Amino acid sequence: MNNTTTTEQEELQIEQEFRALLADYATTRRHQREEIIIRAYHFAKQAHAGVRRRSGEPYIMHPIAVARIVAREIGLGSTSICAALLHDVVEDTDTTVEDIQALFGEKIAHIVDGLTKISGGIFGQQASQQAENFRKLIFTMSSDVRVVLVKIADRLHNMRTLEFQPQEKQLKIAGETQYIYAPLAYRLGLFPIKQELENLSFKYEHPEQYADICRRLNENSNARLEAFERFAAPIRQKLTDMGYEFELKARIKTPYSVFKKMQDKNVSFEDVYDLIAARIVFTPNTDRSEREQCWGIYSAITEIYRPHPERIRDWISTPKSNGYEALHVTVMAQDGQWIEVQIRTVRMHEIAEKGLAAHWKYKMGIDDSTGLDQWIHQIRELLKDPNPNAIDLLDNFKLNLFASEIFVFTPQGEMMTLPLGATVLDFAYQLHTKLGEQCIGAKVNHTLQPIDYKLQSGDQIEVIRSESQRPQRDWLNQVVTSKAKSRLGNYFRREERDLTKLGEQLFDKELQRLGKSEIRDMAIYRLSTYYGFRHPNHMFMQIGKGVVSLKPLESLLVPSKKRWWQLFSNPLHKQPQQPQQQMLPLGDEVNDTKPISATQRPNQNLKHIVLSDFNRDVEYQLAPCCHPIPGDEVFAYRDEQGIYIVHKATCKNAERIKSNYGKRLCTAEWRMHHTLTFAETIEMQGIDSKGLLVRIFEIISNHFNCNLHEVKITARNGLFAGTFELEVYDTEEIQLICNELGKIEEINSVKRLSSSTNKSF
Ligand code: MN
Repeated sequence: MNNTTTTEQEELQIEQEFRALLADYATTRRHQREEIIIRAYHFAKQAHAGVRRRSGEPYIMHPIAVARIVAREIGLGSTSICAALLHDVVEDTDTTVEDIQALFGEKIAHIVDGLTKISGGIFGQQASQQAENFRKLIFTMSSDVRVVLVKIADRLHNMRTLEFQPQEKQLKIAGETQYIYAPLAYRLGLFPIKQELENLSFKYEHPEQYADICRRLNENSNARLEAFERFAAPIRQKLTDMGYEFELKARIKTPYSVFKKMQDKNVSFEDVYDLIAARIVFTPNTDRSEREQCWGIYSAITEIYRPHPERIRDWISTPKSNGYEALHVTVMAQDGQWIEVQIRTVRMHEIAEKGLAAHWKYKMGIDDSTGLDQWIHQIRELLKDPNPNAIDLLDNFKLNLFASEIFVFTPQGEMMTLPLGATVLDFAYQLHTKLGEQCIGAKVNHTLQPIDYKLQSGDQIEVIRSESQRPQRDWLNQVVTSKAKSRLGNYFRREERDLTKLGEQLFDKELQRLGKSEIRDMAIYRLSTYYGFRHPNHMFMQIGKGVVSLKPLESLLVPSKKRWWQLFSNPLHKQPQQPQQQMLPLGDEVNDTKPISATQRPNQNLKHIVLSDFNRDVEYQLAPCCHPIPGDEVFAYRDEQGIYIVHKATCKNAERIKSNYGKRLCTAEWRMHHTLTFAETIEMQGIDSKGLLVRIFEIISNHFNCNLHEVKITARNGLFAGTFELEVYDTEEIQLICNELGKIEEINSVKRLSSSTNKSF
């Protein structure tokens, strides 16, 4: 068994490390609780006695190292230091959480318990396992954020000693670090730790590139530093003249951030120009605000060097949501290189380095305005999604970690943080799910904007809603926040379920009325085959929507000789019983064009295709020149790719197509099921009168429930002319709308605008 005793030399080494920890702790200037730390150390040492790490070191060296990171690099106090010392005892030894609680109290036990629960990797063997571990991580984090801070320290030490792990484990741990822990450290404001984690992951994931970049960074490092000193000298002089106590240091990009820049911008090492940046950390005078003094320094620097007009970042007026504050400015150095200068006070610097811990120190508690609470809340919301897919969950989470943010305001002036690219709809969902679902637009800075309007920092938004509004499918493309996405997903799943259920109920009712309930399966089969549905649920959903009729059921189940043909033709297809001219009695110019013979059905010489929105047996496209819609008389020809291009029979290009593609021509017919809509334009002329537009909108929007895309109206000398682009199912609908509009007294003419008249092929 593993009964190795530590040698005296090792004892000495352990003792030294522990004393270094106590020294780190002493510099934190907190109320001194050394006694409990010493107890925790002895307890952990005893518990791990005789066990070694892969590196050969006694195990206790690891918890001490983690505790040192917690004290020195994160700046946490005795509770976290003890938890760090004890973090592996429950996991690896016989000690229980209850033991810890009895000896060290509830707080420390709670953190150790949290750490034990998330001790496994985030990436389990299965996706579900992965999601579960991840869920645990987030929930423990939201109960006490120190759990995650200690966990990050643990991970940092493991990354620093990763060389002792076998290679496949190295890759797994590095990948996980890159994927979750580095972004998490960033989100918690631990910037140097985030950089180190990324850099170490990079080292193990891409060892060759890492070595290459390190070599190149070293090659010219002296020349680079000399150039930097030439750049820095006048600034130093100026700051000294201003009477500041300050530090001005060069910041060299890490190999990882060089690599990332090369990847993101697709440039070579030589083209990464911002290898070096300058950072000023100064002690502000007490007589003026920190902000004012930062800008004062900015002004002093830009008197020496020319600033880049677009690269100024003011993280003082609006700190980042992880608490980061600083003023960044990019100026041109003597040699023509752009150099970024970061201006921070000592306080801002500490927040940037130690994140939350520094916040506690300065603000006595986590300040809500850092957005951290809001962020954790968002993540919890995400986890409530009843149908989470593990990968989605992780991706959504990452989305929340990485997204650049914008700051917008409610009408009451409350600030909200949203990811870059967020729309009015995202904002509405952020406020309340119901508000999102009923959103029809918003007043952004008092100007009316559509729901997909992309918000910008500083916008003030008043959401406009309507009781009759319902979420639409394409909204999914108009939102970027994970909250809006998951809410919409829920809504559509629920809606589909409800409609399918309703459709099935209607179906059963009809079956009952016909007295055919005992042959239900047969009935389902017959009706879905009749309509061409592959799955009964699809049919039920369309029945529920009112798109598909139950009328044919009777004839399908009670066949009669007179009705046999119905089995072979689809009733949704409206047989064009009248010529085109009478179907659209709208004075179209297209009437002048004679329909070509290819449309005269039946024609045994030509192939015949069916244009359907379901079961598209043939791949077809609607020609952009004449832009046919269901109900139009059409013909098609097969292009080189085998795709059928559908033209109106009246298309101006018909003659040419006919002569060029004679052999590839086909006759075509529509069999649409009202699942697709098509854009069409109506043109109207008449006498301008009060309330006329309202009546037109009433007919189009309310009576027919059509979406309007674009309206253009001119009114002059008491006459008006306008075009209305709207979404319709087919020619029949557009004809009905035209008929209805024609009934308005003041309207003299109303017609469908045919695009074949003004566009060429
Ligand atoms: Mn550990």
